[in-house]
Amino acid sequence: MRSKTKISIIGAGFVGSSSAFALMIGGYATEIVVVDINKDKAEGEAMDLAHGASFVKPLEIKAGDYKDTVNSDIVIITAGAAQKPGESRLDLIGKNYKIMGSIVPEVVKYSPNSILLVVSNPVDILTYIVYKLSGFPKERVIGSGTVLDTSRFKYMLGEHFNIDTRNIHTYIMGEHGDSEIATWSITSLAGMNVDDYCKLYCNKCNGIEELHIEDDVKSSAYEIIKKKGATYYAIALAITRIVEAILGDEHSILTVSSLLGGEYGIKDIYLGVPSVVCSSGVKNIIEVPLSPSELAALNLSATKLKESLSSIK
Ligand code: NAD
Repeated sequence: MRSKTKISIIGAGFVGSSSAFALMIGGYATEIVVVDINKDKAEGEAMDLAHGASFVKPLEIKAGDYKDTVNSDIVIITAGAAQKPGESRLDLIGKNYKIMGSIVPEVVKYSPNSILLVVSNPVDILTYIVYKLSGFPKERVIGSGTVLDTSRFKYMLGEHFNIDTRNIHTYIMGEHGDSEIATWSITSLAGMNVDDYCKLYCNKCNGIEELHIEDDVKSSAYEIIKKKGATYYAIALAITRIVEAILGDEHSILTVSSLLGGEYGIKDIYLGVPSVVCSSGVKNIIEVPLSPSELAALNLSATKLKESLSSIK
């Protein structure tokens, strides 16, 4: 995994710099290049990170221009405006889609064989735009999707049941945003459906109908942004997890944002869906057995994104 791995991060803000930090600690790359329209910001972050080099695996970390990103294995796009308190992710379209137009041609020119990992919001829409602008095969253009939201859901269920979050098996699917859905019908612990587990082992409630965790997952970014202005640590770890799956050719199932081609009855839109992630990017999408109401909600989420996309097409 460590033989000459180069990762470039476009956008050295909260998310970009936290991701560089997490990747550095994980020892996933031998070279990290940070690019930002604000050169001082990129240089300051790169210097701060580089000064910790003696504590991690050997790594070159620097700020640069697009030419310095040449031959990157993975390019992570975190540039653009972030949500302000009360703003939805879809409210950012107008500000962020034009930014992709200035970034993608440069990235493609210098790293034509890279995998592009889009994180900027609204992530599903921007991943679609990056896919179109790059001309890359769909496998090599991935959004961070609902990997973070799935982690939030598992964490909250783990807290509720007082069980290790890694023993909770579930997904948040759809838009990384207000129309995302919790896949309750396939949520399991110890080989049991969550509702059965709840009734048998939980003395706090009588089944999942009493849980409001899905709403808490949806509102958590709004709450964090209201309290501290931005979210970045958990997304940095989510990005690191996706990078690890790619570099390790893991064939891990992650809810990255992938281009649907008829799965779940949905076509030509990027959505967070369970996808097999390996060294070539997204190998394939897995169609999990959703309940009819979950499937309808997933289709609604896709429709909402298509409407937003057509407003800028
Ligand atoms: P930030 O404002 O701290 O950083 C954004 C950076 O992008 C700034 O440093 C800015 O100078 C830079 N930038 C702007 N235009 C650029 C351009 N044309 N080229 C290069 N750099 C440019 O914001 P943040 O908190 O780091 O968030 C970044 C993005 O990530 C936002 O869109 C935010 O909504 C998104 N985000 C996504 C997730 C997710 O789960 N997908 C989670 C958190 C944040």
